[in-house]
Amino acid sequence: MRVVLLGPPGAGKGTHAARVAGEMSVPMVASGDLFREHQKNDTSLGRLARSYMERGVLVPDQITIDMVMDWIVKNENKGGFLLDGFPRTLTQASALEESLGAGSGIDRVLYIDVPIKVLIRRLSGRQVCGSCQSIYHLEFSPVKSIGECDNCGGGVYQREDDKKESVLRRLEVYRTETEPVIEYYRNLKILVDVDGDNDVKDVEMTLMEAIKS
Ligand code: ADP
Ligand code: ADP
Ligand code: ZN
Repeated sequence: MRVVLLGPPGAGKGTHAARVAGEMSVPMVASGDLFREHQKNDTSLGRLARSYMERGVLVPDQITIDMVMDWIVKNENKGGFLLDGFPRTLTQASALEESLGAGSGIDRVLYIDVPIKVLIRRLSGRQVCGSCQSIYHLEFSPVKSIGECDNCGGGVYQREDDKKESVLRRLEVYRTETEPVIEYYRNLKILVDVDGDNDVKDVEMTLMEAIKS
């Protein structure tokens, strides 16, 4: 089973990815986490990606495709995978489909949608753990002890690109670059619409049903 989580920044992809992949017993990856990992390790790819991510624009397609395909090759023969944050452009979507080979492409795309006003509130209050990537929110799901990850005790921080100016740019980039990907998968008849403007538990239930159906 090969699944893609699609949706605007702040829709809840990262919040749900691990549990959905766990339910499917497949490995998962978030392209944004791969880039941030490269930055932490100060690789040349990390330094290159940083200049784009800081501005809230997409990293060029070929760089992103190579990085994610490398992960997919390393995770072959594990019964499938779940991708969070990739593909984000039509070029990425067709590169993915091509490299997976005819008849063995993506099985399902879970498209989580949330109104833009809600996205802005979610992104501007998001906090993430620098060690284990757990996701929190200042208002909606705060850490128990200020600044400290409930899961691993690591430090939580606000992402540079979750500051106001970047947030608006990212939502605009989503509209122009990523929205066409929704129609691409809808035409392939593998898209499932999920209303993300609900409690985390409710959204999770809908996602679980969508992968079983
Ligand atoms: P979000 O939580 O907003 O969905 P991500 O962590 O997925 O954000 O991505 C953060 C940034 O990393 C993006 O704004 C972009 O610069 C870069 N990035 C992540 N995935 C991709 C991708 N598939 N294509 C191009 N750039 C990407
Ligand atoms: P994405 O990966 O799609 O960018 P995240 O999973 O990181 O989105 O969620 C963005 C922010 O919104 C996080 O701070 C998260 O805690 C919060 N959040 C996610 N889902 C919900 C929800 N259903 N209700 C309230 N807040 C949520
Ligand atoms: Zn942590």
